[in-house]
Formats: sequence, C-alpha cells, structure tokens
Amino acid sequence: MHMRSDAVVLFGVTGDLVSKKLFPALYELTRRDRLDVPVIGVARSPWDDQQLVTMARKSVTEANDEIDDETFDRLADNLSMISGNYADPATYERLAERLRDAERPVFYLAIPPAVFGSVVEGLAAVGLADRGRVIVEKPFGRDLESSRELDRTLGAAFAPERVFRIDHYLGKEAVEGLYAFRFANRLFEPLWNNEHIDNIQVTLAEGFGTQGRAGFYDTVGATRDVLQNHILQVVALIAMEAPASEDTVAFREAEAAVLRQIAPLSPQSTVRGQYAGYRDEPGVAPDSNTETFVATRLTVDSPRWAGVPFYLRTGKSLPGTATEVVVEFKQPQRSLIPAERGTATAANLLRFRLGRGDGITMSIQAKSPGAEVASRPVDLSVDFGAALGRRQEAYERLLDDAMDGQHLRFARAETIEQEWRIVEPILDLPTPVRSYEKGSWGPADADALAGGWHVPDL
Ligand code: NDP
Repeated sequence: MHMRSDAVVLFGVTGDLVSKKLFPALYELTRRDRLDVPVIGVARSPWDDQQLVTMARKSVTEANDEIDDETFDRLADNLSMISGNYADPATYERLAERLRDAERPVFYLAIPPAVFGSVVEGLAAVGLADRGRVIVEKPFGRDLESSRELDRTLGAAFAPERVFRIDHYLGKEAVEGLYAFRFANRLFEPLWNNEHIDNIQVTLAEGFGTQGRAGFYDTVGATRDVLQNHILQVVALIAMEAPASEDTVAFREAEAAVLRQIAPLSPQSTVRGQYAGYRDEPGVAPDSNTETFVATRLTVDSPRWAGVPFYLRTGKSLPGTATEVVVEFKQPQRSLIPAERGTATAANLLRFRLGRGDGITMSIQAKSPGAEVASRPVDLSVDFGAALGRRQEAYERLLDDAMDGQHLRFARAETIEQEWRIVEPILDLPTPVRSYEKGSWGPADADALAGGWHVPDL
C-alpha cells in the first residue's frame, strides 16, 4: 500500500470543475473520515480563506439535498487559500511554505491545459514535484502529438508513478460494473465473442446543448470531447480479454492490449452532425464545421471480435440524456419458434445503462400467450440503485484513490495515445457536418450506418 497524501492542493479553485465536482467530493470524503488534511486552493482571483469557505459551502449545498454542518465545518477548518499568478515564483514559495509539514501532497490541476507547463515547472522549482502527486483531467491534448507534448511537460517534473490522468468514466461505479459483470459472472463470458454476438452499440446521448460553453466547445467537438476518451474507455471494458491477474498492472495492460487491436476509425464509416441553431450561439464561428454529433463504426482486430461491428454515437441536443451499451446477440441457429404474427424477429439484447438509473436489462424471447407457438420479447431488468443502494460519485473515488497512490482507475499514458491513434483519421474532417434538428437522434445518415440503432431508455 502506498502512503496516503497528507495535503490536497486545488489549482483553479475558483473554477467550474472544483465547484461542480471537487468540493462535493471533498465533503463526502470528510463525511466518510477519509479526509482530514489541509486543502489549499490556488487561483489568480484574490479570494481570502472566508470566500473559499463560502464558495465551498455553496457548491456542497447545491450537490446535496441536505448538508451536515458538523461535517462541513470539519472540511472548512482544513480549507485555506493562496492567490497568485502562475508565472510568479513567489506563488510556489508561499505554497511550499504552507506545505512544509506535508510529505506527500497531491496537486489537482483544475486549470486550462495551457497553464499546466508553468504550474508543474513552478512546483518542481520549489521541490514539490519530487514528493507530490499530480492529477490532470482531459483534454489530454488535441491529437496524438499534442498529447505526447503534454506528457513530456508532466514528465519533466513528475515521475510516471506520480501522475494521475482522470477519465472520470473510469471512476464511475456503473462503468466499472461492466468489468465486474464480465469477470464476476460465468454466465455470459462463453458467449462474449463473434460466434454469438452480432453487434455492439454504445450511445452517449445528451439531451442538452453546450450549456453556455459554446465558445469552448466549438474548439473541441464531440469526437474530442467524449468519443476519444469516455466512449473508447467503455469499448475497452466491453472488448478486453481477462487480465492475467487482479492487480492494477495486469488490468491496465489488458486495457491497453485491446486498444492496440482497434483499427483507426474511417471517415467513410463516420457521420458527423451539428444541431440546427448551433452556429447562432455566442462564441461559435458562423461557418463552424465542429460536430455536435458523431456516429461511427469501430472494429477490433482480434480472434474474439473479428466481424463484430461496434457502433458508437454521441451527440448534444438529442432526445434525452443516457449512456448505454447494447449487446445484440445472434439469432438461434435454427429458427423453430417464429416471432408472434405481425412482428419481426427480435434478437436477445443485453442493455447496460451507465448513466442515471443505471442497471441492466436483458431482453429474451418468451412464448406468446395463446394457441400459436410463437415468441415475443420480454425484459428482465435490474435497477442497481434500488438493488444496491447508494454508490460513490466518480470524483469522490478518484480523489480517494489518488490520495492513496492507487492507479487502477486512472488512464495510463499509452491508453491515451492509443485513443488518439484510433480517432485521428476522423479529427477535423473537411467534409461539411450534416445538420440535424434539436431533439432528434442526429442526421439521417447515422441511422443507415448501424442498420438499426436501439433507442436508449430515457
Ligand atoms: P475553468 O474554465 O472554470 O477554469 C478554472 C480556473 O482556472 C478559473 O477559475 C481561473 O481561475 C483559472 N484560469 C482560467 N484561465 C486561466 C489562465 N489563462 N491562466 C491561469 N489560470 C486560468 O475550468 P474548469 O474548472 O471547467 O476545468 C478545469 C480543468 O478540468 C480543465 O483542464 C478542463 O478541461 C478540465 N475538465 C473540466 C470539466 C468540467 O466539468 N468543468 C470536465 C472535464 C475536464 P482564476 O482566474 O481565479 O485564476
């Protein structure tokens, strides 16, 4: 077991990520007696300690139905602020002074990636990189080359085992559930191959638009925002071979191994869309060709998956918000039981709901009532919230793990490089995006791509 961090430093403490995710996570860790160390906020804004506590309280209140004052006060007692410029050595000297008793601080870079370089250099200059850990969030660059550049920047100051790269999907219990489902159950693993599976679909749908961040989004687009990271992470868990053992190294190796087997995506089997009205949003170029929707077909070049298409799609302003994986099985080898009169034969489906209301639905064929010997699909469904109770929030677990020096739920550099290699051919395509209406499932061409998408449970 690695030694636990004895201080947490949040760069960019005035920002959106800290207020939406990190303060609630720190509160939850405090409640579970997993956090009782100094938490130092750093930003250029001239906040004092009291302002920091006020903002923390606001964000915890927004994230929870009710707030336990005793717990919050314990967190508040640990909070303090440092305001300063990232180019100014004095900022890091003050931080080093505040951390003089901390042997293993963890630094969360909740700041724009353009500033990472100055911050890690500043930390290294005062000796903090040698004894600290650093957490960074996506985007890990804009392409393969810039992601390597980012790694060089981090690697110049921090040893590899001190770097924690967050793809928060890896921290979601529902996503981790895919791994548990596959390797804790005997039932499906023998069927988990091209003998029995016809195709696999992954949908990450957002029922909302750019939420006031159109200027930022316009430089990114759907492929970089979620396909390169979250969706490929889900594909890796669905498609990976069993790790050689239960340790972190074996898991990460199995994950990287399957990513290496994925062929680069092809522009010919990719449909990019943009919702009507997007170009009128503030900060968006009037002739923007940024995709707010992308659908594509992916193949895994392995004996297990040869011939099984993985259809992936994600988009904004779709009919609702849901993340689902649907595994569609092949039809029985001999068709003895026809589908109920007037209906088409339906395949067995395994549907993993990974978003709100997470759970699994298995669609099987049952005999139709009546004299006719025919079948119709019925669902066996479990709602994990109801069956298992409260699960942890991703950021709560990820912070906890990074403080413990545990890498299991963090992406390693190679994983990210492989993900960029896979999406590179479809980045910044010159072909015009297809327009789609808000509230639809994207451009019509995307429907043809999969020959029948399964509509997620919304
Ligand atoms: P914000 O845009 O809210 O910025 C965070 C803080 O960084 C700001 O409050 C600001 O603080 C400081 N900052 C902004 N621009 C600069 C600059 N040019 N130089 C120095 N400091 C600057 O970012 P988020 O909180 O949304 O995100 C933080 C990081 O996490 C980013 O890398 C982002 O890509 C990533 N991320 C965010 C997610 C989210 O949900 N928000 C989700 C996934 C990843 P001040 O001016 O006070 O110094």
